[in-house]
Amino acid sequence: MKDIRSLYLSELKEEMKAIGEPAFRADQIFSWLHEKRVASFDEMTNLSKDLRKKLSENFELIGAKEVTRLTSKIDGTVKFLYGLSDGQIIESVLMEYKHGHSMCVSSQVGCRMGCRFCASTIDGLVRNLTASEILEQIYETERSMGITVSNIVIMGSGEPMDNYDNVIRFIRLVSDEKGKNISARNITLSTCGLVAGIDRLSEEGLPITLALSLHAPNDDLRQTIMPIAKSQKLTDVIVACERYFEKTSRRVTFEYSLISGVNDSASCAEELCSLIHGMNAHVNLIPVNEIKEREYKKAQDSSISKFKNILEKKRINVTIRRSMGTDIDAACGQLRRRYMSSSVL
Ligand code: SAH
Repeated sequence: MKDIRSLYLSELKEEMKAIGEPAFRADQIFSWLHEKRVASFDEMTNLSKDLRKKLSENFELIGAKEVTRLTSKIDGTVKFLYGLSDGQIIESVLMEYKHGHSMCVSSQVGCRMGCRFCASTIDGLVRNLTASEILEQIYETERSMGITVSNIVIMGSGEPMDNYDNVIRFIRLVSDEKGKNISARNITLSTCGLVAGIDRLSEEGLPITLALSLHAPNDDLRQTIMPIAKSQKLTDVIVACERYFEKTSRRVTFEYSLISGVNDSASCAEELCSLIHGMNAHVNLIPVNEIKEREYKKAQDSSISKFKNILEKKRINVTIRRSMGTDIDAACGQLRRRYMSSSVL
């Protein structure tokens, strides 16, 4: 059966034709799926019972079922574990800011990029998520919390460029004016730096924010913490980011997780300044979230502020990211691992 929530409106029109329904039905159904964001065909009350039955015989509505959630006592951040139809489990995080609700979604079950500090990649890639499975992380959260998500970061488990087609489909669907209608400007895609993917993305005509997981100012150091750096040379990655800016006019964000004694020295900061000198970019410094499987430790506050000062002196736009939900394992795949390795949470 076809996964109806992953279809573009134009495709849904073709599908309606194929089952002998007029094209305007597609508009109605698309609105139920993405504007009203219902969870079942039965809720599509302006369609006849017969049509609803026909839809349920021809299409499936893929859902994400809440397995558990943890709410941070510190800042209200909510971390969800969602179960998929084949029993896989993924993580999503809801954060509340002054400007509204922001949702961090996963793009894959697991990941094969192997970043040394990341919990999502330890057991490798299980499978890609469909567009509907990425959408449902948001829609199901909106249903259960009674809120509206206004910002999306594709920074959960998985490498979005490694599931390129489904991720682009997700972005087009969630930003469709006839659907949820989130402006592409309110969507950020984070990548470990796959050059071909960045180049492809700059041609999509989607003005989303590109975030590059940099984490080191040179190839040698980067290779020790991010295996992908062996095949994707830093100069090529940076040039791809420059091209992305030229094509989209969107300022690129560089994410830099500070790990004590690994990448947090003053000389790393100096080297970073020369690497991105003259670029219209923004650096986001993130004290690394410690995971129990690895020995990496958070950089000390003093080295974080020193690092920041060096960048500021060179007039580089830099912020230190506020850690959200530190009391609920909100970082990258930790909760899922904990859940999978124990039957009681
Ligand atoms: N695969 C994509 C998106 C998912 S990871 C990417 O690499 O960008 C989202 C961000 O969290 C990345 O910048 C990643 O490097 C970072 N990250 C992963 N584990 C982390 C940890 N333990 N502490 C701090 N940042 C981490």
